[in-house]
Amino acid sequence: KSDLKPIWCPGCGDYSVVQGIYRALAAIGRPPHEIAFVSGIGCSSRIPGYTTAYGFNSVHGRSLPIAQGIKLANPDLLVLAAGGDGDGFSIGGGHIAHLIRRNMDITYIVMDNQIYGLTKGQLSPTSQKGRVTCTSRYGSLEEPVNPLLYTLAYGAGFVAQASPTDLAGMASIIEEAIRYPGFAFVNIQSPCVTYGEEAQQIKGLKAIQETLASLGHNPADRLAAMDLAQHYGEKLHLGVFYRNPEPPPTYGDLVKERQALLSKDALPKERILDLFIKK
Ligand code: SF4
Repeated sequence: KSDLKPIWCPGCGDYSVVQGIYRALAAIGRPPHEIAFVSGIGCSSRIPGYTTAYGFNSVHGRSLPIAQGIKLANPDLLVLAAGGDGDGFSIGGGHIAHLIRRNMDITYIVMDNQIYGLTKGQLSPTSQKGRVTCTSRYGSLEEPVNPLLYTLAYGAGFVAQASPTDLAGMASIIEEAIRYPGFAFVNIQSPCVTYGEEAQQIKGLKAIQETLASLGHNPADRLAAMDLAQHYGEKLHLGVFYRNPEPPPTYGDLVKERQALLSKDALPKERILDLFIKK
């Protein structure tokens, strides 16, 4: 926890999310200098600054490629990426598929409030059809992106949803995501109290929330997870949709293996220098 005081609007759901991240990281127990926390641009992207991890508040939509570079350069770091729905599923949407197919060992937390809050309430990729905003005066004509189906369909090994309506549950989902060996995605329905609609505030979310455990969902069943994920926007399903019971190797594991293989035939460092330095 850093000394910086968050400057979100009073009542913003992101206050609860940062608490959930503190609790998860405390349970994991890695010291701050072993953690890198990358974000994009937006209200929620301020979040690394409120932790004592190495923070990088990067450019819009680019938290994932930067997090990937950090993980490859220093595989021992625990790497988190975070941002909003606009950052993750609009300008940055194309990056998610590539981290998933490489199974990069990174936890990606999206604070999904279905609106662009920092820039004062424009339609976002997860805004519901019909939503009236300053950029959709007569109601949005578009179907929203479904972040859960999106990541499940690309083959993510860990996909979950959490909400500030259940801080303890959210903290344990984030912890589980961090412990998953590979790309882990957590969608958090974090209310925007300034530009969000009534139905997306805590009271509205409580009315539609349902834990996946109470439905008897088996998180090892990807097809059942995809079935449940279709209720995004109607029901607030909390918990782990999918956790691959047999996680494939991460990209970092494969790189290490390849390096070991190639290093067998590699010239010793002195010989490489000989090739370049004329005596
Ligand atoms: Fe939170 Fe919305 Fe305020 Fe941004 S504008 S800090 S998302 S309440």
